[in-house]
Amino acid sequence: MTDKPMKVGIISCSGEAIPGGTIARVACRKVLDDLRPTQCVTICLPLFIAGGEEERMFANTYPTITVDGCEKRCAALGTEKLSARPAGTLIVAEILRKRGLCPITKLRGLGAEEKDAAQAVAEEIAAAIDEILGAE
Ligand code: SF4
Repeated sequence: MTDKPMKVGIISCSGEAIPGGTIARVACRKVLDDLRPTQCVTICLPLFIAGGEEERMFANTYPTITVDGCEKRCAALGTEKLSARPAGTLIVAEILRKRGLCPITKLRGLGAEEKDAAQAVAEEIAAAIDEILGAE
């Protein structure tokens, strides 16, 4: 018997006006579809804020990782305020800095730089999920 959680909720910010917000969402999708499809679920931030009971209950019961497009940290602050402190909080710009990647400035379309950035963020999310779930 183990107390380890089976799944992690990932909550992306929903910024459209800042390029990092798009990268955060694309990265979360990548994790959900390709990198850790059975170990995570996504939680819709707007519904969460609007009062989605299931979303809030999930975030209260299971560990969450928030992924924010900029230092305003809307997903992290919203999750903590409305439910519980996230187990992990990631910010796109910090990940790109850490990986030596250029900041993303394009608001529309995903070119090679944006795809690399989304991949880097997705890998960091996957690593955070592994750490929380205690994977090897
Ligand atoms: S964290 Fe930044 S990019 Fe994301 S919703 Fe908030 S202001 Fe927009």
